[in-house]
Amino acid sequence: LRMLLMKLDVPSSMRSGERNTRKIYDADTIRTAIDSGQLINYYQPKVRVDTGVIAGVEALVRWHHPVDGMVYPDQFIGVAEENGLIGRLTHTVLSRAFIQAKVWQQSGYELKVAVNVSMDNLTSLDFQDAVVRLAAEAEILPGKIVLEITESQLMGDVRVSLEILTRLRLKRFHLSIDDFGTGHSSLTQLRDIPFDELKIDQGFVHRASGDETLRAIYDASLALAKQLNMEAVAEGVEDREDWELLRQTGCDLAQGNFISRPMPAEALGEWMEKWHV
Ligand code: C2E
Ligand code: CA
Ligand code: CA
Ligand code: CA
Repeated sequence: LRMLLMKLDVPSSMRSGERNTRKIYDADTIRTAIDSGQLINYYQPKVRVDTGVIAGVEALVRWHHPVDGMVYPDQFIGVAEENGLIGRLTHTVLSRAFIQAKVWQQSGYELKVAVNVSMDNLTSLDFQDAVVRLAAEAEILPGKIVLEITESQLMGDVRVSLEILTRLRLKRFHLSIDDFGTGHSSLTQLRDIPFDELKIDQGFVHRASGDETLRAIYDASLALAKQLNMEAVAEGVEDREDWELLRQTGCDLAQGNFISRPMPAEALGEWMEKWHV
């Protein structure tokens, strides 16, 4: 059963009776996991709503725990951030994602690869150098890379982070504002950082067609993205009703279980052959 759940990528919060449900790991264990290669990247497609064609993938980290099985990011990202481990973690995810991007490129796939970046990664200019170097080593153009930053992390005093993001943008890396609607980024920040993409949080997408409040937030987010010339991505597209809303409203891209759950890199080719809307 565990193997099946791992294959289906069902988050622990949705399982019952699993020993590792909601278990949070300590910093030493997480450090060992990073250093011994127990973290792997899964990838979830982002598809164009008008054509159904895959435009890119988002890397989502997974931990293959030798005893507990599959462990999900909410069980270790927070601890990694609080204990100075997120630098290494992000480095691992980025370098694997870039190498994978190169493999897909060589197979003739036109894909952008997105990676989640924590605000704690954006405290020194070393981060910018590392991203540039990893992309160069993998021979991937910056325009093929998307860095996703969660909106709620953009609050407060973030001058240094904004400087690093701006520099990366000037080098042509693409920037995406994640979980939009759950933070309170000031509109000034949206003006100051040239984000290329806005991801409407899944909480405002799934079931939005039947809920006035969700629908209002979804509509407002989409309108803002359009007015600021950003590509709008709807997250958490779980059923055809959600998908139809995106089509009717002209959302650019869609991501969610209706399209595909996150999967290992090797599974993407087969998924692409089968996928149709
Ligand atoms: P996120 O960046 O917002 O990623 C989307 C999350 O929603 C993923 O959870 C994905 O599996 C899940 N998801 C996708 N489609 C659906 C759907 O249709 N319905 C529902 N209910 N959920 C869906 P996951 O992989 O557990 O990741 C959770 C969060 O952990 C991510 O949220 C991201 O903030 C963080 N994370 C994941 N990988 C990394 C990483 O490499 N680095 C950092 N810093 N954070 C990461
Ligand atoms: Ca994300
Ligand atoms: Ca998100
Ligand atoms: Ca999220």
